[in-house]
Amino acid sequence: MIRLHFNRTGRQPSTWLLDAPIFTVCPNCGFTPHEALRYVGSRYGLVGSFTCAACGAKVTITDGDCRPPVSFTADVPGQPQVSFIYEDVYRLNWADLERAGAALRTSMIPPGEKGYVDVEAALRALEAEIARLDLPHAPAPLPGGVTWVPLPLRAWLDALHTLGV
Ligand SMILES: [Zn+2]
Repeated sequence: MIRLHFNRTGRQPSTWLLDAPIFTVCPNCGFTPHEALRYVGSRYGLVGSFTCAACGAKVTITDGDCRPPVSFTADVPGQPQVSFIYEDVYRLNWADLERAGAALRTSMIPPGEKGYVDVEAALRALEAEIARLDLPHAPAPLPGGVTWVPLPLRAWLDALHTLGV
């Protein structure tokens, strides 16, 4: 399940995830388990917490009150922190969706001021285009600090990369 909101109004159009699998990172030791956490926003900015399986640090997850970025803070001296804008890491921001839509000669973002982008349908459309063009699968490079991305976002990144988006 991926729920990606969009809003065309305001200073600039934007997208934000409010139900998506996210990778987690321990800011104390850098460990990323190959297991996604279901991110469904926060209560007053508090997303949740976990204990790092590698170093034992307690890590608190926060966000901007259901808005990016999502931050991980380790409860160790110095309180090390890492933050991610998952919409950017996953290439589900407004600009990337427009580029993806241009590659398919369609729009990935429905008409209207606000609503949801059907990411699964968009991924199927990209994969159909890759099959039609008979392109070889090209694994997308990941941004710095990111070592693992859960499915289906990994497939989304690879599809964009394969299509040269
Ligand atoms: Zn750790």
